[in-house]
Amino acid sequence: MAVDMKVDKKKRSRIPFIGEGCWQGVEKKVYKSDSSDFKNIHRKVLLGKETPSTPIELRYFEIDPGGYSSLEKHEHTHTVIICRGEGKAIVGEEVLDAKSGDVFFVAPHESHQFIQQGEEPLGFYCIVNKDRDRPRLLSEEEKERLKNHVNFID
Ligand code: MN
Repeated sequence: MAVDMKVDKKKRSRIPFIGEGCWQGVEKKVYKSDSSDFKNIHRKVLLGKETPSTPIELRYFEIDPGGYSSLEKHEHTHTVIICRGEGKAIVGEEVLDAKSGDVFFVAPHESHQFIQQGEEPLGFYCIVNKDRDRPRLLSEEEKERLKNHVNFID
């Protein structure tokens, strides 16, 4: 049987954590460049395009005080592991507490948003498939529906 021996040119077996949501050699990126319905959030890619032999991407997001991620939905799933701070997560039509150690799963086409609360930034890992669809923001109608359950959507 032929084995596909893909070479990960920039493979790093260890990405050393240096504290406060930072890793050696990993740059801070803008959260998104194609929408603006988010606040005080940035992104770091720990595993992704530069590691062709894995089908997943591992990203780290951090939301500073007063911030939140986009309220969006898409076909691909998210596995989220909170590792810093606290806040709320909207998943589907539920508003859930989020604190360090909690694990969230966002199923296909579920609305979702992460909201920072308290003094410390809200930090979380998010695992996605490399091959995935683009997120889309909620329509005004969908937002209206969600407002019946969620009291802090603009
Ligand atoms: Mn998403």
